[in-house]
Amino acid sequence: MSQSDSCIFCRIAAGEIPSKKVYEDEDMLAFHDIHPVAPIHFLIIPKKHLVNLYDADIKEQALLGKMMGMAGQLAREQGSVDGFRVVINNGRVGRQEVYHLHIHIMGGPEPLGSRGPAPLKE
Ligand code: 5GP
Ligand code: ZN
Repeated sequence: MSQSDSCIFCRIAAGEIPSKKVYEDEDMLAFHDIHPVAPIHFLIIPKKHLVNLYDADIKEQALLGKMMGMAGQLAREQGSVDGFRVVINNGRVGRQEVYHLHIHIMGGPEPLGSRGPAPLKE
């Protein structure tokens, strides 16, 4: 079984599992989180399977820079015109649930909570 068979975000990137798409190009995909914790909540993922920032490493700086570099434009296009929050959960301590690197972009018309909402499940 390849990573793409077992990884839900690889399957979303391959179009095998539907998603509400925000943006797509050859390197990355952005789509709405299925369980939003803010009025605007979408995820930016690399199409390439990277587990998290431990896996991405400095060798992926161009890809990471591109995903971060697109965040503001995509947030604005989705309606977050006055600020937004960026969260990347990594590993067990970071409470990562899906082990394919993803950037949470959260925003809304009103300010978010001072520490949350964040995609943390108790
Ligand atoms: P993590 O805790 O790993 O940072 O967050 C994973 C996120 O992926 C969660 O916010 C969860 O709601 C979202 N998610 C999990 N499965 C799916 C799915 O099949 N489709 C979409 N659109 N989001 C998903
Ligand atoms: Zn994957």
